[in-house]
Amino acid sequence: MPSTGCVKAVKLLSSSGAYWRGDEHNKMLQRIYGISFPKASELEEYLQKLEEAKQRDHRKLGKELDLFFFDETAPGMAYWMPKGFKMMNLLIAFWRKEHEKRGYQEFSGPQLNSSELWKISGHWDHYKEDMFVLTDTDGKEQALKPMNCPNAIKIFASKLRSYKDLPMRFNDIDVIHRNEKSGQLNGLFRVRMFRQDDSHNFITEDQIGSEIKDIIEIAKYLYGIFGLEFELTLSTRPDDYMGEIELWDKAEENLKQVLGELCGEGQYRINEGDGAFYGPKIDIKMKDCLGREWQMGTVQVDFQLPLRFHLSYIDSNGEKKTPILIHRALFGSFERFIGIITEHFAGAFPIWLAPVQVKVMPISDAQAEYAKDVFEKLQEAGIRAELDDRQEKIGYKIREAQLQKIPYMLILGEKEAQSGSVGVRSRKQGDIGAMNLDEFIEKTKNEIENFER
Ligand SMILES: [Zn+2]
Repeated sequence: MPSTGCVKAVKLLSSSGAYWRGDEHNKMLQRIYGISFPKASELEEYLQKLEEAKQRDHRKLGKELDLFFFDETAPGMAYWMPKGFKMMNLLIAFWRKEHEKRGYQEFSGPQLNSSELWKISGHWDHYKEDMFVLTDTDGKEQALKPMNCPNAIKIFASKLRSYKDLPMRFNDIDVIHRNEKSGQLNGLFRVRMFRQDDSHNFITEDQIGSEIKDIIEIAKYLYGIFGLEFELTLSTRPDDYMGEIELWDKAEENLKQVLGELCGEGQYRINEGDGAFYGPKIDIKMKDCLGREWQMGTVQVDFQLPLRFHLSYIDSNGEKKTPILIHRALFGSFERFIGIITEHFAGAFPIWLAPVQVKVMPISDAQAEYAKDVFEKLQEAGIRAELDDRQEKIGYKIREAQLQKIPYMLILGEKEAQSGSVGVRSRKQGDIGAMNLDEFIEKTKNEIENFER
């Protein structure tokens, strides 16, 4: 700040004890946290957003909605409750289908790899501290994989490949482990065990532009389903780059052209010199409904790893050539993405992803039989339903289903039981009146198929 005169609207947020200079032998002092804005209205707005962010905290909602929780028995590794795991599986199925359509081939590799592999990949020298390393019964060092790249490379290298095979896109969702410091763990955003929506695409030099374009288009489609806006940032050649400068120039030129086509000229950011030493990359960031920015996917071009593993394919002249590798994850990881959308939707997930789509509730015991019928018909139609036939007041059941953010409640009284209809209460619109059951099923299936939000 230029002067303390700028401190106008002030609010103290919290306080805690702290040792002088962080040394426990020193005196305990009081630390006070506060925030100041030049205008009271700005402070007000900030506090409102802070409160809303608290309400949307995915760790809080994860527990309340029975999705996942963390426990001291496994720091940084989520326990997935059936409802949360249902969501993850739905997300995986959706992701799988969309990639299979686009020529991706899913594989699975080992969880543990010998130190030999990590030495070739370079992880042993540069990443060992973040890996869980152990010794097997033969006295050999093994490490839980912190990334999927070397396994995808083994799959590629397992056969002779021709230029006609490329691009080859090997995607996988194997669990990976990173030995993050416990102080850095943060709900589903920073974990020790997770599943990336990973893929390693092997291409020729001429395919950089078209492949990146395909990848960004998939990202556009995936995020579009959730109504998430995103922004792309290109990070270019750093000073300590490796490889041929001509290849770097060509790749960067291709990337700029593709980004220009997809976003419009000047509609993407460039971080000059911020690329990895092994290739340029594109970061995908989204803004949620509170205006917070989240890192989602990355698309990383890699000229070096194929060289380290001596990868090759046979080109059209019958000569051996080194492929280029693209590492890409679009959701980032399924864990992280579920954390983000939990906060973005405040737990009111789109109907296709909601673990329970419809809650059936009879008003009294007299409708118990009918309610069971309705519940079974929904299940037969492939709709995820729950039956609440407890002896509770209907107002209480409705409130509970509302807190669970269930898209539809079917309230069944005498009138509905007699006419074979259902009283529909929607999460979005409130009470929408009676409807024929078949009509309701039709409408709901439509909304699910169309990924309605
Ligand atoms: Zn990779």
